[in-house]
Amino acid sequence: MSKKRKYDEHREFKLQWEEEFFFTERNSKPFCLICQSQPSQFKVSNLKSHYDTNHSSFGNEFPTGSSDSRKNKLSTMKLQLNKQNQCYIGIFQRNR
Ligand SMILES: [Zn+2]
Repeated sequence: MSKKRKYDEHREFKLQWEEEFFFTERNSKPFCLICQSQPSQFKVSNLKSHYDTNHSSFGNEFPTGSSDSRKNKLSTMKLQLNKQNQCYIGIFQRNR
């Protein structure tokens, strides 16, 4: 653990945010898997307040820690996102 990289904390996506806040990285931006919004910055305070404000009930339904339900939900949502992406690409190609 080095503290020299502290400056980077606001720029890099951290994998743990996926499970903590259900944010993933998309087009170099954070992407909310629950409501599909995209805050412009990788600031943990932004992501946390978004999650706490909009999705606190989600946290009750899928509590952190103890069970696997949260992890399972996360991987399901990521799969859905991938399918969606493929679908969009398909539409895009057909329209050209
Ligand atoms: Zn959201």
